[in-house]
Amino acid sequence: MKPGKIVCVGRNYAAHAAELGNEIPKFPLVFLKPASSVIGDGENIVYPDFSEEMHHEVELVLRIGKTIKNGSLEEAEAVIDAYTVGLDMTLRDIQSKLKEKGHPWTIAKCFDTSAVIGEFVSAQQYKPNFDEKISLKINGEIRQEAPLSLMLFKPAEIVKYISEKMTLEEGDYIMTGTPAGVGKVEKGDILEAEVENIAKLKVTVV
Ligand code: ZN
Repeated sequence: MKPGKIVCVGRNYAAHAAELGNEIPKFPLVFLKPASSVIGDGENIVYPDFSEEMHHEVELVLRIGKTIKNGSLEEAEAVIDAYTVGLDMTLRDIQSKLKEKGHPWTIAKCFDTSAVIGEFVSAQQYKPNFDEKISLKINGEIRQEAPLSLMLFKPAEIVKYISEKMTLEEGDYIMTGTPAGVGKVEKGDILEAEVENIAKLKVTVV
């Protein structure tokens, strides 16, 4: 199934908001990635020639199984039909310049190969308790690691909130934000991302 829109949540872990000098949000901060930015497990992240600072952000990804608009918390929970691990690759140098000027982050977030999405596990197959560990290794070394319980906004709350602002459709993905420990990647790096009991993926930066 080809993805629809990809809605991303920023600053959903307090320690990550702090490491970039941002306040803890009172409601989910959302932005979009296009379907054209998606790659899967085993593919390559292509370093864009217009950036010198690409960062990794490992995230829990939700898939929407049924259209929802202005959903209740129960309805929001029910439309999440699958989970996986993903990487929200970010051009931090470009994002910082855009933030300074108050401009949208689009160019920093929407480049080709910037959304790495693992294999989905259906919600019937595995029901997360959101205490699973999320982690990212670069060349075998742990860079990000946290329990999903540190998320400020939980998956159902995120879906409910987004559905109040725009219709979520079958096949849309939601990237739920990254824990602390983001940093630069270099060409040649091997990135291994995992959400415990849910999914793993491995990609190379070229
Ligand atoms: Zn992110």
